[in-house]
Amino acid sequence: MNHHSNRSWFLQTMAQTSDAPLMLEIERAEGNWMIAPDGKRYLDLISGISVSSLGHGNKAVIDAVQQQLQKHMHLMVYGEVVQQPQMQLAEALGKVLPEHLNNFYFVNSGSEAVEGAMKLAKRFTRRSGFVAQLDAYHGSTQGALSLMSNPYYSDNYKPLLPDIHFIGMNDIEALNNIEIKPAAVVMELVQAERGCLQATQEYVSAVKAFCKSTGALLIIDEIQTGLGRTGTMFAFEQYQVEPDILLLGKALGGGMPMGAFVAPKYMMEVLSVNPVLGHITTFGGHPVCCAAATAAVHQTTDRFQEFEVSRKEQLFRTLLQHPKIKAVEGKGLLLAAHLKDEKTCRDLISYALTQGVFTDWFLYAPHALRIAPPLTITDEEITFACETIVNFLNFQD
Ligand code: PMP
Repeated sequence: MNHHSNRSWFLQTMAQTSDAPLMLEIERAEGNWMIAPDGKRYLDLISGISVSSLGHGNKAVIDAVQQQLQKHMHLMVYGEVVQQPQMQLAEALGKVLPEHLNNFYFVNSGSEAVEGAMKLAKRFTRRSGFVAQLDAYHGSTQGALSLMSNPYYSDNYKPLLPDIHFIGMNDIEALNNIEIKPAAVVMELVQAERGCLQATQEYVSAVKAFCKSTGALLIIDEIQTGLGRTGTMFAFEQYQVEPDILLLGKALGGGMPMGAFVAPKYMMEVLSVNPVLGHITTFGGHPVCCAAATAAVHQTTDRFQEFEVSRKEQLFRTLLQHPKIKAVEGKGLLLAAHLKDEKTCRDLISYALTQGVFTDWFLYAPHALRIAPPLTITDEEITFACETIVNFLNFQD
């Protein structure tokens, strides 16, 4: 690649998804930092969007990957061959999940977990409709995209799935006015891409009551909130609710690509009969990814006290008190600092990068700054990040 600069080769060969790619070149990453080829260090304030919760280069995860590499990589399409790493992951997750969530379908990504769960809900209930929340994000494949209310992102791909009924998060009246009997209600408990809007307990209880009275399943998408990010292993633990189907991804794989939909065994069984092969994947439950995920789950549970997620949330909230920050929304280390407008946020992101702080905005809240660092972030690093943000706001008119 000597005849190309990295930047032009990147732009020429890598499919672009925006007209203004970030173009930050990173050579390696360790702990809570990402390091450029020239040695410049960037504090990771977003964890590759809520993936690197254990920081970069976690030793237990790397050891697990290396050990599994020595034994075997891919063997056969999902679900046929008995493989220890998959069963070990089921055991590790089983220890931290409610008893009824005892059957696991391991897939390759968050979107695929959403797809699998939607198919499972349709098969189990023999219904076709879904209730989804306005401004939710569940993924980019066409089933998951059907759950996206925002026409800017979905209109060009229509027709998508029919019978999707959108309601505003926390709008109990709208919920009570739904006339269809859906296969499932799909929801996040913190709508990250909306700028970390939290579901209220009243709303979640109303959703559960709606599901009970209509026979709909409750699918909770914890792809971004899971694995400790909101201060408990799963966000649903903070609500008096348990999902019928739980969706996991992102941090689950400890940095490897990994998703899962989790349901009671009696429910999941419908995928295996008449017709068989209700969901097929070649790479889902990849042994190396499962080994990494098992280590990630163990690391998260064993070290959870040490991470002090709630105390770090409070430190962020204290240090981010500033007249130009309208609100800090969210829970645990899934936070959004809401600013005056999109331009302020974009300028702040650019400034922070020059100072060595790597952050981002949100899909439906471009005026809000994304704060989702590794759970291993230190107090000094939080202080450095917040000082950088406050410095910018002090000097910006
Ligand atoms: N659900 C939620 C809540 C997400 O945040 C995301 C990814 N941002 C997804 C689903 C889709 O996951 P993936 O990008 O791995 O397909």
